[in-house]
Amino acid sequence: MDRIPFNKPSLVGREFALLEEALKRGQLSGDGHFTKLCNAAIAEMTQSPAALLTHSCTAALEMAAILCDLAPGDEVIMPSFTFVSTANAVALRGAVPVFVDIDPETLNIDPARIEAAITPKTRAIFAVHYAGFPADMDALAQIARAHGLLLVEDAAQALGSTYKGRLAGSLGDMAAFSFHETKNIISGEGGALTVMRPDLIERAEIIREKGTNRSRFLRGQVDKYTWVDIGSSFLPGELVAAFLYGQLEEEPQIRKTRLGLFDHYNDAFSDLAARERVTLPRQPKDTTGNGHMFYLLMRDIDDRDAFISHLRQSDIVAPFHYVPLHSAPGGQRFGRSAERALPVTDDTYERLVRLPLYYTLGNQIDRVIDVSRAWLGANA
Ligand SMILES: *Cc1c(COP(=O)(O)O)cnc(C)c1O
Repeated sequence: MDRIPFNKPSLVGREFALLEEALKRGQLSGDGHFTKLCNAAIAEMTQSPAALLTHSCTAALEMAAILCDLAPGDEVIMPSFTFVSTANAVALRGAVPVFVDIDPETLNIDPARIEAAITPKTRAIFAVHYAGFPADMDALAQIARAHGLLLVEDAAQALGSTYKGRLAGSLGDMAAFSFHETKNIISGEGGALTVMRPDLIERAEIIREKGTNRSRFLRGQVDKYTWVDIGSSFLPGELVAAFLYGQLEEEPQIRKTRLGLFDHYNDAFSDLAARERVTLPRQPKDTTGNGHMFYLLMRDIDDRDAFISHLRQSDIVAPFHYVPLHSAPGGQRFGRSAERALPVTDDTYERLVRLPLYYTLGNQIDRVIDVSRAWLGANA
């Protein structure tokens, strides 16, 4: 029997042909034909006025932190249950990630916990759309507005997801997406920043192009380009953009396939959830997902570890997820918890298991389900 990995990158459309076309066109550096196509496609798919391709979501988050004008000592409120890049982007500015607990229903940042975490140094809220389900952005926007904070979406997992009919990437002031090979749409490494605030778009272009006004120069708006601000090289080359465009063309089909797998898992475990053997993902109110991830919440960490090792013995790879940032050495050095304890975050870390979910999983999903159900039944 074949091993079932947790994730498997796959070609879905014209990736090869577009790579060849990029090579023939002769420009391998960034911001050429394919980067422009990707920017336009992502702007369309997020209903945002500007999308800028980056070499990773990490890079897009670093751009967002610069655009927030974070200075040393400033604070940014974010969940602790997230990837390190959400916090690193802030720490790199000398600012302090302030960790808030998540909502046990949605696993997204709990808006009810934010007001108490705000201090005179708070500048922004970085919200994560966990498993591709958008955070409660209206509640967050209301708090941000009341306190003059910027609102950034870490939408790494959420391309194509919606909140109250609006697309992820258009729900805050800026949003960061990932095209890492573990995400829905991939280019190996890759990312994008969408910018909703018109007054931030030109600065975003400058930051992405090493602090120069090269983008304006390429549009013929200035007659030479020069160093005007801080920045770095945040853009990918054209080969990455060409590959990515091949994937973006197939986004609706990829999302549909993944949502089908998600629903299949959901149905297959619904009786065990009704008997409270496991807890299934709960779709936040007024959202649609994109089938990014399917997880089970087990009883406790021992139940989780026993389940994971049983799956591994059956050649199925099912990992747990984020080690909470507030308890990690980096989190303790560079950030702080808003409260003495973040119990929902700790509990979720101990109980959550992610099941294999990728475009070509196909019928193998039934082996994952059968092996899982047999073990859950024997360990009721
Ligand atoms: C994947 C991910 C990132 C990092 O994305 P890269 O493209 O690998 O830099 C950041 N935040 C979240 C929530 C992610 O899931």
